[in-house]
Amino acid sequence: MPLVSMFELLQRAKRERFAVGQFNMNNLEFTKAIMEAAEMERAPFIFGVSEGAMKYMGERYVVALARAAAEESPIPVVLHLDHGSSFESVMRAIRAGFTSVMFDGSHLPFAENVRITREIVRVAHAMGVSVEGELGTIGGVEDDLSVEEEDAHIAKPEEAIRFYEETGVDALAIAVGTAHGMYKGRPHIRFEIIDEVARAIPVPIVLHGGSGVPDEDIRRAIALGVGKINVNTENQVAMTQTIKRVFEGKPDVYDPRKYLGPAKDAMRDVVRGKMRLFGSSGKA
Ligand SMILES: [Zn+2]
Repeated sequence: MPLVSMFELLQRAKRERFAVGQFNMNNLEFTKAIMEAAEMERAPFIFGVSEGAMKYMGERYVVALARAAAEESPIPVVLHLDHGSSFESVMRAIRAGFTSVMFDGSHLPFAENVRITREIVRVAHAMGVSVEGELGTIGGVEDDLSVEEEDAHIAKPEEAIRFYEETGVDALAIAVGTAHGMYKGRPHIRFEIIDEVARAIPVPIVLHGGSGVPDEDIRRAIALGVGKINVNTENQVAMTQTIKRVFEGKPDVYDPRKYLGPAKDAMRDVVRGKMRLFGSSGKA
């Protein structure tokens, strides 16, 4: 089917208490690994593409890959801009064919974040494109964006609720203690904030930095109202470790298919595990 937006998927996720996985797409093997997992699990999902990945692959390649994957399949697939940094960047993605966008104005003063996010919601909704907003700073490293984990400030529930009311976003990412990249210890997730905000707004909360969060914490977050979870690092690790293993056994390999193929399969298994954990298996 054609690419879809997050509207119906996320409404249903919140209602039925499961989470839709956002898996970042970085090349052909990522695209295929995620798509194969989704077909095996009959799970709807979101292809996340960061601005860095867009630069790496090229906008037209990104859209063409996502469309090819979706059109071949009965599974609902969303193509979502991850951490869009400006109004212009978001508009460009919509024009290119993205069916969903995130605007990350979390580094801006509250009023400025609201103002730009609201404008993006107005334009995006007119075009049938869903919007994710962000409040509070999520720690860790994503592309060239680096925020010290200690500086990552946790979202205040009353601000998050006001942000939703003033912008009308379809999904809200709030900083609740998770971080991008690998964790040094166990993340301390502020479940009470998820609970308070999720009760007050009709759209799901998005958990960024889903890689490496213990399964029980993921289940608890979903039960409280998290409806979208972003995973990238664990997929990157699965792919890279498999490639290393191939070369350890056969240092003379030169055909990229001989190491990218097994790497894709390893990543597919990680994605399948996440889809089951998130409760999205069988929801397509
Ligand atoms: Zn993120």
